[in-house]
Amino acid sequence: MSPSVETAKLPMLLTALRLPSFARLWPEFCERADKEGWPAERLLAALCELELSEREQRRIQRHLVAARLTPGKTLDTFDFSLVPSVSKAKVSALAEGDGWLQAGHNLLAFGPPGSGKSHLAAAIGYELVQRGYRVLMATTSDLVQRLQNARRDLALTQEIAKLDKFDLLILDDISYVRKDQAETSALFELIAARYERRSIMITANQPFSGWEAIFPDKAMTVAAIDRLVHHASIFEMNVESYRRRTAYAAATSLSDTDRESHSDTEKSEQEEIATPNSDIAT
Ligand code: ADP
Ligand code: MG
Repeated sequence: MSPSVETAKLPMLLTALRLPSFARLWPEFCERADKEGWPAERLLAALCELELSEREQRRIQRHLVAARLTPGKTLDTFDFSLVPSVSKAKVSALAEGDGWLQAGHNLLAFGPPGSGKSHLAAAIGYELVQRGYRVLMATTSDLVQRLQNARRDLALTQEIAKLDKFDLLILDDISYVRKDQAETSALFELIAARYERRSIMITANQPFSGWEAIFPDKAMTVAAIDRLVHHASIFEMNVESYRRRTAYAAATSLSDTDRESHSDTEKSEQEEIATPNSDIAT
């Protein structure tokens, strides 16, 4: 077979071997190798390395899509100065993943609406995916619905086993589980099945005292909390809603602009808008 015939078959061979980076880059690399006189093994190694590194990137991208994290909620965009009870160093250590995920330890984030729980959860999830871990973020209600559907089809155990592929399950807004969902123990079974094996992160508006509506009865509530907290890091995010804070800030800056362009007679009205600012936690 002449070299040109062999070369003509290369794209087909590389596609069959599932080597897309190799297939895209070999003409450029070969040209450079010919020009610079690379030994054949150097060319081969360079293409293999590229395939491997791009394959890893493609894998991370796939896992990022599968993780269903809210886009843009990363540690870079999280302002730690607004939540003094959350240590940036601690979060950065957790975002490395090592140790706690292998041991199936949990993370719990408590705080009023708008305190940044979902942002923090998505940000930790994002970092973990970048490091090769598998993460799934879902509202607890959606996940419970999925488990209930599986139970109806007599496939709850299999459904819970499927979720095992995720190193971390982020159950967002556990306090919003609906009453009719709480009548089944699907959520408890998930928590029990992952205990000390696979990690769970939970965000909640309510402290444990308000969790009785989430599980069918008190004994199960206690048993679920017991398993969740046994090995857990807890973030208490008792800060003013970020949404409200930014709305106040916008209103205040608006009133500042007004103040510059209007007469003194409107001053008292503007001070009224600015007043809520003094409530903001520092
Ligand atoms: P929660 O889940 O506690 O109700 P979210 O995480 O959804 O709150 O936060 C509400 C909004 O405020 C989101 O857009 C989020 O990105 C933003 N936010 C909250 N806390 C912070 C923070 N500390 N730094 C930057 N943005 C924040
Ligand atoms: Mg939230």
